[in-house]
Amino acid sequence: MNIELQTFTVNKRFPLTISRGTTKQTTNLWLKLHHEGITGWGEASPFGMDGVKYTAESLQAELTSIAPLLHNFTPWQHQALQEALAQPLDNTLSSNPLNNTLSNPAKAALDTALHDWLGKALGVPLWQLWGLDLEKIVPISATIGLNTPTAAVERFQNWLPITGGKMLKVKLGSPQGIKADQEMLRAIRQAAPESTLMVDANGGWSLTDALFMGDWLANQGVLYIEQPLPRGQEKDLPQLFARSPLPIFADESCWTSQDILPLSDRVHGINIKLMKAGGLREVWQMIHTARSLGLQIMFGCYSDSVLANTAMAQLSPLADYLDLDSHLNLVDDPFQGAELNEGKLIPTSAPGLGVTRK
Ligand SMILES: [Mg+2]
Repeated sequence: MNIELQTFTVNKRFPLTISRGTTKQTTNLWLKLHHEGITGWGEASPFGMDGVKYTAESLQAELTSIAPLLHNFTPWQHQALQEALAQPLDNTLSSNPLNNTLSNPAKAALDTALHDWLGKALGVPLWQLWGLDLEKIVPISATIGLNTPTAAVERFQNWLPITGGKMLKVKLGSPQGIKADQEMLRAIRQAAPESTLMVDANGGWSLTDALFMGDWLANQGVLYIEQPLPRGQEKDLPQLFARSPLPIFADESCWTSQDILPLSDRVHGINIKLMKAGGLREVWQMIHTARSLGLQIMFGCYSDSVLANTAMAQLSPLADYLDLDSHLNLVDDPFQGAELNEGKLIPTSAPGLGVTRK
């Protein structure tokens, strides 16, 4: 098999601000895997945290360097390919913070394309290949970034015609402190009394802030809190876990299945993302690991187009919460795939991922 790589730039309708900064535009990577006349598609989207930064250029360089190796494999050889890809890359190429192997978003693009190829070769959508029940899919949440109370309410109103606004994920952890967080949350609560609110602090709180906000947000009827403390501060989570009236989810602290066991005594659930995990195969593994430890499961995204979000939608019947809304905030998504139906993101019955060019 061989791969073809192409970058594409997407622009957000509304810039998104979280505790780490603002994103207006990203350049993502489109991977096309060709074998025996069938082409599988995958996407790598950039993200960064704590000194780790993946860009379309760094991911393209990594994947270009392994392209010749792929000629020796077919899409049916997942296991052998996985072993081959565990080999170190040239030091100058790897953007993997853990070791110098292929980074997780680069792996995600390749693994997604392999799965798309398999589904297309067999003529079935992935959700059907896996025997999943689309009736189990819950509505996606719509994200409201950090903003002034007035602008946050406007953002909610803009979501209304798109998702119905019943499930709102509110980004807190404002660099201006928890008073700003409270003002924004209060304004949204008032404007959307019927909506279910969930909070993602993106690691923007101290332990003291998190303890206080847990009680305060419970009084506001919030459903759960995601990543209250910064990645790296997991040792403080047990204190929060013991006292928190709300379930706590780990996002930045949990990338792959290996991160789950150490977190299982201090969080109630994990946020699984295709780019952190490194592909659908690892997403499966994370789901089973988390479930075996009694944890809840959320799916999330970065600045993914509908291509990557459709890949996650194929496994959505297995998740408790779905936060796959990034593509709905793009003005120029080049793809179409899973479709929004009454607030639920439903994959189509087309083979593989069911993603096409617009
Ligand atoms: Mg998050």
